[in-house]
Amino acid sequence: MQIAIDGPSGSGKSTIAKMLSQKAGIVYMDTGALYRASGLFAIRMGTNLEDEAAIKGIIDKMRLEIKYIDGEQRTFLNGEDVTNAVRADEVGLAASAVGRFEFVRERVVSFIRDTASKQSVVMDGRDIGTVVLPNADVKIFLTASVDIRTRRRCVELAALLGHDVDYDTIFAQIEQRDYQDMNRKIAPLKKADDAVEIDAAHLTKEEVVDKILEIDAVTHFLKNEGDDE
Ligand code: C5P
Repeated sequence: MQIAIDGPSGSGKSTIAKMLSQKAGIVYMDTGALYRASGLFAIRMGTNLEDEAAIKGIIDKMRLEIKYIDGEQRTFLNGEDVTNAVRADEVGLAASAVGRFEFVRERVVSFIRDTASKQSVVMDGRDIGTVVLPNADVKIFLTASVDIRTRRRCVELAALLGHDVDYDTIFAQIEQRDYQDMNRKIAPLKKADDAVEIDAAHLTKEEVVDKILEIDAVTHFLKNEGDDE
């Protein structure tokens, strides 16, 4: 069973994918974390994120791994657990910058496909339904307006940092990331023709998950799993 959830930054993909993985009893894979680890690698190597040749020159020194510890994905860069370090907003922007380059995507995509071939998975990303797993059983395209995504991110960041954050700064970052992700040459963010689009703006997380659980292929999968037990 392969479930692909694509959509722009902050649309709630990872929350939904995690809830779904628990309900369906299948592994959740956060593919963004791998691009983030690539972005973090480029930052740490002191590389100019716009300089394709420079990044190509160091990419062979990057080793990515994921492990599941207590059911949670942990992401490793050259043996170091960078799961928390990659969450920073500047690392998200760096991921979006280096994710434009073909050689970065090739490495990450082959890693993702390899993992998905071994087990049932639910994944979130930008190009899972269009490029990475074009034959996924279920494809979801999750959206919400820039304003709503900014407001959610501000609340999240304020809780994390303990002080208010500037709405306009976050709005601009989200717009920049959307622009970069939708306009890159390779594997841009877009809805797959056969994806189910869900606008998450006025739905609770539970309502989004319920909508996905109602899709025929998911219902059948869960029923068969239940019958096997
Ligand atoms: O989803 P997340 O915000 O962690 O992704 C960080 C960045 O990684 C995105 O802005 C996007 O540029 C890139 N990405 C991608 N393809 C994916 C997942 C993430 O290009 N499948």
